[in-house]
This record gives sequence, C-alpha cells and structure tokens, in this order.
Amino acid sequence: MKYYSLNHNAPNVSFQEAVINGLAPDRGLYFPENIAPLPETFFENIETLSNEAIAFEAIKQFVGDEIPEKELKQIISETLCFDFPAVKVEEDLYSLELFHGPTMAFKDVGARFMARCLAYFNRNNPDLHNTVLVATSGDTGGAVASGFLGVKGVDVVILYPSGKVSDVQERQLTTLGQNITALEVDGVFDDCQDMVKRAFLDEDLKSQNLTSANSINIARWLPQMFYIFFAYKQLKRENKPLIISCPSGNFGNICAGIMAKRLGLPIARFVASTNANDTVPRFLENGAYDPKPSKATISNAMDVGNPSNFIRIQELYHNDLTEFEKDFSSYAFTDDETKAAMKRIYQNSKYVAEPHGAVGYLGLKKEMKLNPGSVGVFLETAHPIKFPETVEPLLGITLEIPAQIKSVLGKEKKSIQINSYDELKDFLNH
Ligand SMILES: *Cc1c(COP(=O)(O)O)cnc(C)c1O
Repeated sequence: MKYYSLNHNAPNVSFQEAVINGLAPDRGLYFPENIAPLPETFFENIETLSNEAIAFEAIKQFVGDEIPEKELKQIISETLCFDFPAVKVEEDLYSLELFHGPTMAFKDVGARFMARCLAYFNRNNPDLHNTVLVATSGDTGGAVASGFLGVKGVDVVILYPSGKVSDVQERQLTTLGQNITALEVDGVFDDCQDMVKRAFLDEDLKSQNLTSANSINIARWLPQMFYIFFAYKQLKRENKPLIISCPSGNFGNICAGIMAKRLGLPIARFVASTNANDTVPRFLENGAYDPKPSKATISNAMDVGNPSNFIRIQELYHNDLTEFEKDFSSYAFTDDETKAAMKRIYQNSKYVAEPHGAVGYLGLKKEMKLNPGSVGVFLETAHPIKFPETVEPLLGITLEIPAQIKSVLGKEKKSIQINSYDELKDFLNH
C-alpha cells in the first residue's frame, strides 16, 4: 500500500515510511491510495470470528507485504490483549467500553500497535533507532509510555506540564523507567506542544530520528477501525440500522470508524459528538471550516479547537456537504448538558459514564430520535477512574480503583525538570 500526503506536495511512501515519518515532508497527513472493501462473506460470518482474526482482515491491506502475515498476526494479538464489551445501558442503546487496556484509555490500542510496528521495522534494520517524542495533556502520554515500554530500538520522551495532569496520569508517565523518560515542563500543555513541534523541525536533531506518536501517525490511527468492527460483531443479532457516536477531539477515532464503513462494515450513521470545541458541528452547518482556540471543558481530552484528523474526513467525503449528510452528523454539548447526562444515565441505568462517554451518549440520543428503529452505540473512551474529580461528587459515589491503576499508585515518580527548549535539545542530544 502506498500513502500520499494530503498536502499533495510530497512523494508517495510505503507503510513503513509513513509510520516512521509521521507527517509527510510537506507537513501533510498521510492517506492510503486505495481502500478496497472486504468480501461479503466476511461480514456474513463476522460473529464467528475472533477479535484478532477480524482485526487482521481489517488492517492487512493497509500494511501490505511490509510486515509478513505471521508477524502482523503476532502484533495484533499483543495489541488486543483485553476485551471491548458492548454493555447495554438502555433499550437499543449500548456503551462500547474501550477502556479495559493497561492505561484504561482507548489510546492503548493505537499506541500498542504502532510500537510493535516500529519494533518490527527496527529489528530488520539494526542501524535504525527512533526517538518517539510526545507532548501530553494527560491520556496520550500514558498510553504511549505503556505501549512502547521495553520495545527495542525505540526511546520514548514524554513532555508534560508540571502540576497540570492528574496524580494517576502523572504516575502512568513517570514510573515505568526502561526506555521511557518523562520531562516535566514548567509551563502549560501548549508550551510542551510548541517544544515538540520545534524539535521536529530542528536540523540539529535530525540524527535522533524523531517520530510522533499521536493520531496523525497512520499506525496509531488505523487500528482504531477495529472498535467499530467489534461493535458490529456484538450487535449484528439486533438486525437494526447501527448508529455509532464517537466523543471527538482530534477526530482520529471517528475517522477510523468511517474507514471501517468504507471497508464494507454496515454502519448506518456516524455521530461526531463534541464538547464546547465545536469547529466541526459549525462546519456541517455552513461548510466553512473555521477553527477557534481550544476551550477548557470537563471532557479535556477533547479540548481541541483545530482537529488534526478532520482533513482526512474531508478527503473521505470529498469535502462535499451533501456527501457528509448521507451518514455523518456532528453535535456539540456544554459541560452542564454533559453533567446532566452523567446523572441521568446513572439514575436510570446505574451505569457510570465519564465525561467523554457522556458527550458521546448525548450525540447518540439526538441522532436516534431522528432515526427511529435503529440501535445505537456510544464509545466509552476512558474508565471513570481517570476523572474521579468530576465523576465522584456528581454521582455521589466512590469509585473502586481497578488493578491497572492500583499498580502504578505505589510506584515512585521519576522525571526530569526542564524549563526551556534548549534544555530539551540538550537532553535529546546527550
Ligand atoms: C483522545 C480522547 C478522545 C478523543 O479522540 P480523538 O481521536 O482525538 O477524537 C476522547 N476521549 C478520550 C478519553 C480520549 O483520551
């Protein structure tokens, strides 16, 4: 499979090159040249297949012959080492729980898959050594740290704003050791992000083979298709049109869902549910893409004013509003609406949704009203324990601490303080 840059000013590249480059040299996102639908028999029998077998069929054309079948199957089986249950919340309405992985956020799947692809490429090329550099406001860093832990030939450097991430999140970043280093930045998330962006463009750091690990990287983005296949596998028996609502920030997850449909998966409609960062809902109203600075909300992993993956979605719909309308909607919700939804879900169903999932629920309810007779799924993208400061007082409950979280709470934090870009550079070139 070849990938082209959505800025159309860079050479087409292989899967391997796209994974290693992250972004194309013209700063465009990579996009696959072809998307070939899977055979109908695959969907007829999907409920008899294992998650691993489904994932292999879904991803194999995008990897091509660059990773042999046996190795790719091994990568998938290590990536999908946990469950993705569709839990019934109301009549015809389900929560697809994507948070049963090691860091309890859905980003675990993409991070684990990308880490293992890079490890495979480095194994066949002992001269290759990569440094994955990421800035995090919380969830991404933990998933990347855990996903890349112990992976040969790859060092991971994570920048996070000192005092601005939760205790659990900080420990997930700072307690692993081995090939993972956490740099604690005296500043806010945007300062971390600016330093990372600068480092990628810095000629003095060329020898470090810096790689990004956010959802612009195809190896982190594409495996997110799997979730929608797993939702369909579990709900096919309902025999009703299926609506998927995805709480969206950078729009990587929902874009992967749309890719799954292009592979032939029978999904009736997608809903991109957002918080007050409503750039995409506004785009669908008037066709003008007008990004705004991000606003802080209680669903903070979605506080994105200019979603980096939306350009891929525009490519899929040929940037044509009438094409969008056929199966794509997007709605924005306030924090007050989100809190009210969390309360209602808990009171009516005894189900604990965290703020991101609750935004997904709200978008789903709205779309299901417009499409009676359908069955709906919202993606629950994190475990409530990642947001106890919102969930516990609002619902009047104390959450039990899951084993994955307990295991990091007792560990000792190790980080290196940095105050400037020059200190980052010194660290990387040491
Ligand atoms: C990253 C994240 C999202 C948003 O996913 P995108 O692919 O960026 O749209 C939603 N919920 C949680 C908990 C996240 O960590």
